[in-house]
Order: sequence, then structure tokens, then C-alpha cells
Amino acid sequence: MSLISARSSAIQAITNYRPESAPLNFAETKPQDLFGCNVFDDRAMRQRLPKNIYRALRKTIDRGESLDPAIADTVAAVIKDWAIEKGATHYTHVFYPLTGQTAEKHDCLLQPDGAGGVIAEFSGTMLIKGEADGSSFPSGGLRSTFEARGYTAWDVTSPAYIMENPNGTFLCIPSMFLSWTGVVLDKKTPLLRSNQALNREARRVLSLFGVTSSLPVGPFAGLEQEYFLIDGNFNFARPDVQIAGRTLFGARPAKGQEFSDQYFGVIPQRVLSFMMEAERELYKLGVPVMTRHNEAAPSQYEIAPLFETGNIAIDHNHIIMSTLRNVAKRYGLKCLLHEKPFRGINGSGKHLNYSIGNAELGTLFNPGETPESNAKFLVFCAAMIRAVHKHGGMLRATVASASNDHRLGAHEAPPAIMSIFLGDQLSDVFEQFRVGRITGNSKKRRMMSVGVDTLPPLKADPGDRNRTSPIAFTGNRFEFRAVGSSQSAAGPLTALNTMMADSLKFSADWLEAKLAAGQSLNDAVQSLISHIIEEHSAVIFNGDGYSDIWHKEAARRGLPNHRTTPEAIPEYTQPETIALYEAMGVLNRTELKARHEIHLEQYCKTVRTEANLVSRIGRTIIVPAVVRYQGELAATCVSMQAIGKTFRTQVLDEVTEYHWHMHDALTQLDEALEKAPSVGDSLAQAQFYCETILPAMESVRTWADKLELRVADDLWHLPSYQEILFGK
Ligand code: ADP
Ligand code: MG
Repeated sequence: MSLISARSSAIQAITNYRPESAPLNFAETKPQDLFGCNVFDDRAMRQRLPKNIYRALRKTIDRGESLDPAIADTVAAVIKDWAIEKGATHYTHVFYPLTGQTAEKHDCLLQPDGAGGVIAEFSGTMLIKGEADGSSFPSGGLRSTFEARGYTAWDVTSPAYIMENPNGTFLCIPSMFLSWTGVVLDKKTPLLRSNQALNREARRVLSLFGVTSSLPVGPFAGLEQEYFLIDGNFNFARPDVQIAGRTLFGARPAKGQEFSDQYFGVIPQRVLSFMMEAERELYKLGVPVMTRHNEAAPSQYEIAPLFETGNIAIDHNHIIMSTLRNVAKRYGLKCLLHEKPFRGINGSGKHLNYSIGNAELGTLFNPGETPESNAKFLVFCAAMIRAVHKHGGMLRATVASASNDHRLGAHEAPPAIMSIFLGDQLSDVFEQFRVGRITGNSKKRRMMSVGVDTLPPLKADPGDRNRTSPIAFTGNRFEFRAVGSSQSAAGPLTALNTMMADSLKFSADWLEAKLAAGQSLNDAVQSLISHIIEEHSAVIFNGDGYSDIWHKEAARRGLPNHRTTPEAIPEYTQPETIALYEAMGVLNRTELKARHEIHLEQYCKTVRTEANLVSRIGRTIIVPAVVRYQGELAATCVSMQAIGKTFRTQVLDEVTEYHWHMHDALTQLDEALEKAPSVGDSLAQAQFYCETILPAMESVRTWADKLELRVADDLWHLPSYQEILFGK
């Protein structure tokens, strides 16, 4: 029997693969000329805008001063001319709805001029505000369909840019997305609000140290993006990969990542060509990509830009994700951003390197050279400790998704318990505050001081790295490692800003009160840090986050351990969360409730889609292969008997037994899907998917994966792990 399966044609296609893209002529195109060439950046603004308008716009961008609507028309006209020179025919407000995706709606810049021709039209109003019927975006009940209008509003602080397509270009305007009544429907608006809260409270603290700045103080974010690349042909041969972005079946290959031969290995040529083209595209869009390397798992890679101000870093990460996806196709590849595409090898994360500061002040998580700057540094670090201790559960909720559940808590990603790794030296400093004895010495080196104790400068500990901690201090920043590779990092960044703003407010209140009571700044700082460490040191953990001992210890310390999305999401509507977000002016109760609903809804839909795939693939692809093989084996038995020989039926017995188990498991899965509640309490729905559907899917997979190792390979239709991971 000869079957042309999607699997065999996929493999054939790979052997015949030729890249489509034309190689770049390096003599003509210099990378340094490309950087930002498609961005309406400062250079373009300065060149093209009238001086007074340039200055007014800069004030809005740099200092967050509100935009003078009177200048909008001029800015729009200039942006329009710039875009048209770059071949743009359309423009779009780009926004980030609560699906976590990037959304755009293109409108033509050209309009009939009434005399048989067209003219380009783009007014200030069109630049500032767009209308997008938002009825199909999740709103968690914030907006019923009869008032479905949403509008997009220009985010002046993130530059406009041009996206290229072989058939034309279009102008992109980074935007917020709100309902007509001003209710927040996106991920950018709360982020911008949290920036404001952080600026306000950080400046209060800084001013007590006599530090001022003409620029707002805000977050810096450096986002390391991990991803998988597989040959695009496998995408079509694997409905699970195509629809769910991950394999729902697949026996462990003979070789996985155990040799560590992939990590930092030489990048294969086809992959490198893809990376170079993706980076070139990103360069044109002003994304400062820095690092590329092979990651730990076979077919896994990482791209990391230089850190930028938080809002821009988030926008750029969205651009990175879509660029990776698009450019991969040109090389016949499929980019998988899913957190766990393959079982048994590492999944993908997106480390969020977080610090606070601005271009004038640098990063405030940088230990300083003087006692004063050390004190300031310790106040900011202590605020982080307090923030994570108070709101770690909520922070965990911002990275909760069906796909990230496969990663958090497994032995490759940080555990679901939010703790802080400080390293020996910093822990020692805080420990001295805790026991109330600041010795000026430490185990390792001479210790720092907070003023009169005259501590020498604190040096960052570069050798100290703990891969098992979800939030690790790495010298001048905290690395938050629990973000999933496919997620928008806007939610976690908003949470970090909001938590920090609250803790800095607490600190400023404390210090101001002590100073008003006549204490010296030094004494006030000492009492503040001692207090925070006394109350919140339970969140500090420098050991192995993967160990069982830590899970027990964390429970003893009262740290939340939300293993799954349905466990984590209720954090959105806890009284402490609502109080925090409302006090900081970031999200109100209704908006948080909407997020709670949307995330649970997304979770149910994701698991349901996967379960449907398991059932469909199980019944229509795997079982038929098994039946054919059983037929072959049975036929062999019969023909052997016909010539008077007995045929040992062990294989047939085994395959038949696994088949029955698989059949039962499929029946149970389908029955469970029938029973899944679809109305009423969304948390109960999510719990059902988590506790009933996921195990039912797992059971089907167990038998299917066993069968993959029994059934004749030429009858098996799904490409194997080995082919997908090593065939490229
Ligand atoms: P790692 O060794 O952790 O993989 P990478 O070099 O891949 O480090 O990525 C580190 C990321 O952290 C980069 O995006 C880098 O620009 C960013 N980063 C460095 N310093 C800071 C800082 N002060 N604040 C925020 N991000 C930072
Ligand atoms: Mg890295």
C-alpha cells in the first residue's frame, strides 16, 4: 500500500527546499543606514516639523505634557508626506486588545478629489483618534454589543512607523484602545497610567535624596524572546501545531536536548539567514536587536534587543513577534511562540528585565559609588521586596495562561511561587537590617552603608546567577522570568510598575513622616528598610526554586503558589488588588473584573480548542493508522495459519490493547466535552477545563504516544518529534 501522506510530502519538500529571498547586496545596503529608516523618529521630526511644533511635540514625548491639539494638524500633514514618500497608501492605528495580540484596521490615505483624481488626506483628528468597531474584541462584559463602538487614541510617546509589504507600505500609529465611554479595553492604556503612577511616587522618594530630573522617571524593560523554528511543511502535516501552536501528540524522540549540543551551538545557515533578515526588518523599524543565539532545546532560539523605556520595549516586542512569524514564512519556516510546543524538552519564555530610571538618572537599581546613592538604591530594592511580597500572587496572575501553565512550575522555568533572588551580598545587607545590626562588614567584602555608617560602594555581583528564581536581581535590574513567550509583556510590566508605585508611595510617606518628626534622613532610611525587611523578607529566597523543599518552605512562609490559571486569575479581583490598582489610578474595579472574565474565557477557549483537536486527530488520523496496522498483523496471522504455521500475536495483542484504551480515553474526552459548562460562573467553567478536560486529553495522548512506538512507521501519518525537531 502506498500512501502519499502529508508527513511524507513534508519531508520530501524539506529535501527540495530553496530559499526564496534574494540575498542582500552588502556593498549597497549598510546596516547602519537602515536603523530606524522606517520610523518617524526624532531625526525625521527635527528635519520636517516647524521648530515650535517640534519643541511642543518633544515636550509631550519626553515629559508627558499633554499634547496641544492645535499642533495635531501640522504633525499629521508632515507624517502624511513622510509616509507617502515611503510609498504608503494606507494608515492604521495599531493597538493591543485584551487578547494579547496586535490589532490593526487599515484605511486608505487617498481620497477622490472630485475631479477624477485622488488626493492624500490625513488630518490631525485622523491622527489622534480612530474609530474601530470593537464588538468582536473581548470586553469581559464591559461593553455590550449595542454600544460596541471603540476608539483608538494616538500614543504620542511611541513613534509612528512604516510597515513594508512586497506590494506596498502602510503607516502605523501606535495607539490606545478605549470604549466610547472611556473604559479601558486594551493593554497599553493601563501601562501608560502605571508609568504615571510610578513617576509620581518615584520622584517623591528621589526628592528626599535631593535628586531631581527634568524627565519623567519610568520603567526600563529588556525583553528576551525565545521561540522555536520548524519547517513550515510540518505545520500543515500537524493540525495540532497549525491550530494550537503546540504538539498535542508525539512520543519522545530517541534524542532530545540531553547532550546540550544545541545551546549556544553554531546557528544553522537557513536559520541564520532567517535571523538576519528578521533583524534587518527590525532594524528598519528602530528595534535595537542585540543578541541572537541557539537556545537549550533543539530548534529553539532567542532574540534580545537592548533595553528601552517600558512602553517602547513592549511595542517593539509586539513588532518582534510579528516580524519573526512573517519572515519565517519567507524561509519556509514556521515560528512557534507557544510556551510549550514540545513535551520533554524546554519551553519558551520571555524574560522581562526590569529597572526604573530615565536617561538623566540611569537605572535606580544600580548600586552607587557613594553612601547616599547606596541608600537610594536600597530604598528602591526594598520597595521591590515589599511589592513582590504584597502582590506576588497578582503578579503571577498577569502571566497566567493555558499555554504558560505548561511551563511555570516545570523544571525548566521558574516555579509559580513568586520569590526574589538577591544574591549573597545583597541578602547579607538586608539581613543586617533585619537583625538590626549594621556592621559595615559582610561575609564576602566590606559592606555598604546608608550614610553616617560610611559604607563603601556596593559592587554588583556578576557571578551570581540563579536560574530557578522567578525574580532575580542581576546587578542593575530585576529579571522577571515567568512571562510566557507568546504573551504581551504589557500586563506584567503594568503590574510591576503599579506595585512599585505603591511601595514607593509607602516609602515616601514613611520617610516624610520621620523627617517631619525631626529624624535625619539616614535614620529615617534605616528605619524604613528595617521595617520592610522585618515585614517582607519572607519573599527573599536564594536557593533552588525547583526543589520540593522550597515548595514546603514557601507554603510555611505563606507565599501563594498558584499552579494553574484558574487558581491564579481570581487574584485580579481580590480586595488588595482592586485597592492597589484603584489607588494608583491604573484600573478600576470594573476593569479588573473584566480582565478576570476575559482571561478565564481565553483559558476555556484555548483548552476547548485543544481538546477538539485531540479528539479529531485521535479519531481521524491516529486510530485509522492503528486499525490499518492491526489489519496487516491479523492478515499475517491468517496467512501463516493457512500454511500451517502459528504466528505469535504479541504485537497484535499489545496494539489491540492500547487501541482499546485509546478508544475509551477518546470516548471519555468527548463525553467530558459534552458536559463542559458554557454558561454561568466563568471560574467554575475554567476549573472544569483544568480538572476534567486536561486530564482527559492527557489520557488520550498517553495511549497514542505508546501506539506511535508500536505501529509501523510507514503507516503513521503525523510527523514525529525527531523529524520536526531535527529536520530543517
Ligand atoms: P541573559 O544573559 O540574561 O540572557 P541577555 O543579554 O540575553 O541576558 O538579555 C538581557 C536583557 O536585559 C537585554 O535586553 C538587556 O538590554 C536588558 N538590560 C540590561 N540592563 C538593563 C536594565 N538596567 N534595565 C532593564 N533591562 C536591562
Ligand atoms: Mg539571554
